[in-house]
Amino acid sequence: MSRHVPPPPAPDNAPKALEDELGAAPDPARALPEFRYYADPFESGVMRTSGETCQCCGKATGYIYGGSFFAVGSESHFCPWCIADGSAAAKFDGEFNDAAGVGMGEVELPMPVIEEVSQRTPSFFSWQQEQWWAHCNDAGRFLGEIEHVDRALLASENAADFVRETCEAVRLEPGEGWQSLLDTPSGDRSFAVFVFGCLHCGKLGGYVDHS
Ligand SMILES: [Zn+2]
Ligand SMILES: [Zn+2]
Repeated sequence: MSRHVPPPPAPDNAPKALEDELGAAPDPARALPEFRYYADPFESGVMRTSGETCQCCGKATGYIYGGSFFAVGSESHFCPWCIADGSAAAKFDGEFNDAAGVGMGEVELPMPVIEEVSQRTPSFFSWQQEQWWAHCNDAGRFLGEIEHVDRALLASENAADFVRETCEAVRLEPGEGWQSLLDTPSGDRSFAVFVFGCLHCGKLGGYVDHS
């Protein structure tokens, strides 16, 4: 088995979407698939506009996935549709997110939830093996690295436990220390903070990923 490790998170000033000169442009009439457990794969950069051909369906849809895919073969560049409908994971017998990390090893989740996250949901760029936060007996929705997460949401009551736990994890004071974390782009930190939201109660959670 080989793991196709993506590059570390791009510096903050890197372009998030690079348009290829060759190949198809996105078809505006074709709606992108929605990922229940992933708010915006374009913002995190694992999905981008590109003329590249999908290694699953062979079509240039105008979009390509460049995140991790854990499989025997080397294929890992897929269109959003082949990820969302499970055909890429099925065809190459792989997973985008480590099934064992769904629930972060703390919560047992229903198998259909684990399968949707591991086989039909894009991954995100991380240093360590990714984990997936869960709450209310369901996987959470990945909201992104903390620098991309809405500040009002992070200041809300739903975030209180997450802020406290994150401060403990990185040894920061919840007041000024937390603010300095929010003010520091991820590229200037030695760790990333991944944030998830509960689809049922709205609570935030996540974890710290150390380089
Ligand atoms: Zn495809
Ligand atoms: Zn919840």
